[in-house]
Amino acid sequence: MTGEQSIQCPVCQTPILIEYKALIQGMRFTCGNCKASIGIASEAISVAKETMKKYDELKTQFRDGKKVNK
Ligand SMILES: [Zn+2]
Repeated sequence: MTGEQSIQCPVCQTPILIEYKALIQGMRFTCGNCKASIGIASEAISVAKETMKKYDELKTQFRDGKKVNK
């Protein structure tokens, strides 16, 4: 897992390659087509970090495989 994924430019719908961890740290990405600046609002960063933390915890649980018993 590289942490890279693409989002659509809100202006021209061109896929923009972003790195999620950089995004939640406040980094902005530029659309290669229309040069629009893409980023998340600073007040949303703490929410995104919390979501990422929970996601990592879930991943750890699934990797252990001990929580899965039906
Ligand atoms: Zn664009």
